[in-house]
Amino acid sequence: MSEAQMREILTPLADLLNNPAGIKEISPELMAKTDFRELYQSLAVIREFALTLSRGDLSTKLNGKGFVVAHLKALQSNLRHLTWQTKRIAQGDLIQRVDFMGDFSDSFNSMVEALAKTQADLEELATTDPLTKLENRRSFFDKGQRCIEQSRRYEMPMSVFVLDLDHFKKINDTFGHHGGDQVLRSVAEIFRTSFRSTDVVGRIGGEEFSVILPEEDAKRAQMVAQRVMEQCRSAEIELEDARVVRFTLSIGVAQLRANDKNFEQVVQRADDALYAAKRAGRNRVCCLDE
Ligand code: GH3
Ligand code: MG
Ligand code: MG
Repeated sequence: MSEAQMREILTPLADLLNNPAGIKEISPELMAKTDFRELYQSLAVIREFALTLSRGDLSTKLNGKGFVVAHLKALQSNLRHLTWQTKRIAQGDLIQRVDFMGDFSDSFNSMVEALAKTQADLEELATTDPLTKLENRRSFFDKGQRCIEQSRRYEMPMSVFVLDLDHFKKINDTFGHHGGDQVLRSVAEIFRTSFRSTDVVGRIGGEEFSVILPEEDAKRAQMVAQRVMEQCRSAEIELEDARVVRFTLSIGVAQLRANDKNFEQVVQRADDALYAAKRAGRNRVCCLDE
C-alpha cells in the first residue's frame, strides 16, 4: 500500500478523533469496505459521546458496539444513575451511596454522610432542650398531639403530668443559678430513669416539666406520679462544690377526655391540678378528673 493510499484511510479516522471539524466527505469506495466502515462508525460513536458528555447531556442514545463503546455506555449509565441519586439526596434520601466511581464515590459519600450528620444535629437542636436534653416545649407539644391521635385510634386512655419544682426561687437564692441549673439537670436524670421509654418527657418552662403517659388512665397515672414525687423527695443532689440539695415537686395529673379538642386542653387541666396541689401545700400529687 502506498503512503498516499494509507493517508486516504487514516486521515478521516484521525480527524474523527482529533479535528473539531471532524466528519468530511469520504469516498464511497472506501465506505464500501466493511472493516473501514466499522472502525469509522465506532470512532464516530466515541466522538459523539465525547461531545454529548462535554455538554453534560446524558440522554443521547449511543449506537455502536465493541469494547470501548460498551464501557462508554456503562459510564453514561452510571452518570445517569448518579444524577438520579443526587436528585434523591436533594429530596432528603440520605441513605443513597455511590459505589462505582472510585475516589469520586468516596468524596461523594463523605459529603452525604456529613449532610446526614448535620441534619441529625439540627433535628436534635430543634427538638431538644439544651440544659436537660429532654424534649423542648415545641417538640413536646407536637408529640402530644400525635399521642392523642394514636390513643383515639386504638381506643386507649392517655394521661398527662405537669410537674413544677417547689420553691425553686429559694434553691436559686441559696445555691446560685448555676446550682439551680444543676438541680434541673439532675431532675431530668431522675425522670429519665423513672419513666418508661414510651413516655414522653419534656421541659415546658423554667422549672416546669410535662410528661405524657400513653395507655395510662388517671388512676394508674396518679400512682406513677406519687412514686416519682417520692423519688424526688428522697433524692440528694450533690453540687460541684460538694453541697447537697434536697427538693420537692408538685404534680398535676389529667386524663385525655373524649371532648378534648387538642393536647393544650389536656395540659391546661393538668396545670389546673398542679396549682391545686400548690395551694394544698405543695409536695403532692393532685388530679381534678373523676
Ligand atoms: P412554687 O413552689 O410556687 O413553684 O415556687 P417557685 O419558687 O418555684 O416559683 P416560680 O415558679 O414562680 O419560680 C420559678 C423560678 O425558677 C423563677 C426563676 O428564677 C427560676 N428559673 C426559671 N428557669 C430557670 C433556669 O433555667 N435555671 C434556673 N437556675 N432557674 C430558673
Ligand atoms: Mg416552682
Ligand atoms: Mg414554675
